[in-house]
Amino acid sequence: LSGGSRPLDKLELKDIFIAVKTTRKYHKSRLELLIQTWVSRAKEQTFIFTDGDDKDLQQRTGVNLINTNCSAAHTRQALCCKMSVEYDKFIESQRKWFCHVDDDNYVILPSLLRLLSSYHPSQDVYLGRPSLDHTIEAAERVKSDGSVSVKFWFATGGAGFCISRGLALKMSPWASLGNFISTAEKIRLPDDCTIGYIIEALLEVRLTHTHLFHSHLENLQKLPVDTALDQVTLSYGGFENRRNVVGIGGFSLSEDPTRFMSVHCLLYPDTEWCPKAQAG
Ligand code: UDP
Ligand code: MN
Repeated sequence: LSGGSRPLDKLELKDIFIAVKTTRKYHKSRLELLIQTWVSRAKEQTFIFTDGDDKDLQQRTGVNLINTNCSAAHTRQALCCKMSVEYDKFIESQRKWFCHVDDDNYVILPSLLRLLSSYHPSQDVYLGRPSLDHTIEAAERVKSDGSVSVKFWFATGGAGFCISRGLALKMSPWASLGNFISTAEKIRLPDDCTIGYIIEALLEVRLTHTHLFHSHLENLQKLPVDTALDQVTLSYGGFENRRNVVGIGGFSLSEDPTRFMSVHCLLYPDTEWCPKAQAG
């Protein structure tokens, strides 16, 4: 190198902290599939936040399973309790990026690395898919005698989102050590909205809108199959009535109703349970 400038350090998987939110009753039906697929390729950087012990799963698979001791109810308080533990564990971890996903998300690790590589972790970066096509409005309860309304964007938690360490550190007064729960109570909105509120409304940092994150709130059949592996997250939903999954080929729908195994075999064909490539 002639310029004397040091090349940028290449971002590695170990620089990312991936938090997966789950609950005890989904360990078998949802979590096992993730552990079989993408989590197996990022075991050291994935932290699974749940609400009940599962020594068997932990010993059998060697994943980082964290019992938050939060309630297993699907309430705002319980979900915010989990997010608050995710945040504290990330800060403790010293890693460069915090990414949150749900237990019905497939994370395409090479795409995640590629996306985060284009930003610097010391800058203020909040990346995700806006869940609405307009801002959300929250009433901040200031005192008992009045409220102020604020408008902001937030990334939908069900599609996953990422936050740089630089920005995460600035969130600390409203997010660390239980403060997240009081912040959420003040605006009475769910965990992902509260993240948006802290970043956009309080810190005045804008959400970087990206459509590479996907939840089952959108029609996943519409995702062009030839771009599926370029996405950062995928999801699935609606087995009961109308199936909402990516239209990727591979295993049959009965073997792989979520399509996550098929995606995994396209990304990592050397996996032992993937169909062997035909010789010749
Ligand atoms: N979840 C949870 N506690 C519950 C129910 C769900 O922590 O009591 C988690 C679940 O594991 C998932 C996320 O919350 O990571 C969203 O749940 P789900 O996909 O069932 O609902 P939706 O996406 O429709 O909000
Ligand atoms: Mn979901």
